[in-house]
Amino acid sequence: MDDTGIDRCPACWSPVSGSAEWVLLSQHETSEGDIEYCQSACGCVVLLLGGDLLKTVPTGAGLGHRPMGRG
Ligand SMILES: [Zn+2]
Repeated sequence: MDDTGIDRCPACWSPVSGSAEWVLLSQHETSEGDIEYCQSACGCVVLLLGGDLLKTVPTGAGLGHRPMGRG
């Protein structure tokens, strides 16, 4: 399997046309490795630790429509 990059969104599984669609939001080093925040073209954010997928934030999957502050 050619796994040279993320070609599908790991959060919402939308196809992403190439790694160029990913935007590096921020990057910092930790004792466990480099933490990278990348945003996909679909709006999801993924956390990478040392190049491995650590966490996904599917912001493009319908989240963000919940009003906050009142409830
Ligand atoms: Zn996505």
